Amino acid sequence: MLKTGLIGWRGMVGSVLIERMLSENNFRLIHPYFFSTSQAGSPNPLDISDRQPLMDAFDLSCLRGMDVIISCQGSGYTKQVYPELRGLGWAGYWIDAASALRSNNDAIIVLDPINRSVIDGGLESGIKNFIGGNCTVSLMLMGLGGLFKEDLVEWASSMTYQAASGAGSNNMRELITQMGRLEGSVSDLLNDPKSSILEIDRLTRECVASDTFPMTEWNQPLAGNLLPWIDSEVGNGQSREEYKNQAETNKILGRCNNPIALDGLCVRVGAMRSHSQAVTLKLRQDVPLDDVHVILANTSVWTRVVQNKKDASLAELTPAAVSGTLQVAVGRLRKMNMGGQYLSAFTVGDQLLWGAAEPLRRILEIIIEFES
Ligand code: NAP
Repeated sequence: MLKTGLIGWRGMVGSVLIERMLSENNFRLIHPYFFSTSQAGSPNPLDISDRQPLMDAFDLSCLRGMDVIISCQGSGYTKQVYPELRGLGWAGYWIDAASALRSNNDAIIVLDPINRSVIDGGLESGIKNFIGGNCTVSLMLMGLGGLFKEDLVEWASSMTYQAASGAGSNNMRELITQMGRLEGSVSDLLNDPKSSILEIDRLTRECVASDTFPMTEWNQPLAGNLLPWIDSEVGNGQSREEYKNQAETNKILGRCNNPIALDGLCVRVGAMRSHSQAVTLKLRQDVPLDDVHVILANTSVWTRVVQNKKDASLAELTPAAVSGTLQVAVGRLRKMNMGGQYLSAFTVGDQLLWGAAEPLRRILEIIIEFES
């Protein structure tokens, strides 16, 4: 069995990964070792395997003993530890949720329902770095990948509505705290049906503007608000999140030499979990809408096409409907006023599952199969 080191299992992505590995019985296939950047030596709180105390995630001599390392710790950790480990001659498989290694030539971005042939080719050629994609990119491809696989997309523009959990566990906690603080600022007035809505509005705005409003993680109010910028600036007017759209989609599809133009605008909203995006696609030809439905339904067994009707959209095409499930819903499908080649779509999926943990869990299974 492959010795597999797990780092970052306490965080948002890591805890979903552990949950999925437990429900798919993956721990029977590996010898797991649990590492921590902050709690080395503490008892392992997870009821998995022989429950050795947590190992030090910065101890290169322990890490060197692993056949596979899965990190959900973040880019800072990867940038510090990965080069030192490889520098010592470590030749194991590095699986990572962070973006640090994604654009490297010796790394493959994993999303096997879309790019299994790229992954298989990489394994055969000795690639050892398998990195999960940007959550929004992976979800866009799990929703609309059929059109890309059939090479029907000339260009696409996506407008995202990204959930708080995309920024990590502490940000998710802070959003709930902000929501609670807002409710608390007007709870008496809410209980009085005769109270003035303008007074409620004024008090909530004052609450958000006060020095004591909790904003340690976001540095901004997210409750009752939205944030039209995600991640750092890349210098051309795009945010890093927006930059990843074209770069990672084409890398996943294995077409960096013949890229499809993709762009958009990424926005953080106060949803707890699951990223949504409205996508405008220019198709290479006027594909009938019924054919579009069939092509999209064939994207993967997890892709679910929702009829473009009000009731179905509100019931099935929301973060609340898909959170905690592996289904990626795609709907609001219609041809746009600009012409028959222009397709409008809306897609939503749990970014902690297909946008993060699930491709990592599945590449582990693929590696185990390849090595056996
Ligand atoms: P996270 O929740 O902030 O967890 C990262 C680490 O923070 C944990 O492993 C833990 O490390 C530490 N931590 C500090 N306070 C914590 C707390 N209160 N609860 C839990 N852990 C805490 O980050 P994440 O969202 O999982 O992201 C990890 C990586 O995956 C990042 O590179 C991110 O960009 C990438 N990613 C995230 C998503 C997403 O939707 N969140 C999607 C795709 C990719 P120790 O146990 O060692 O202290």
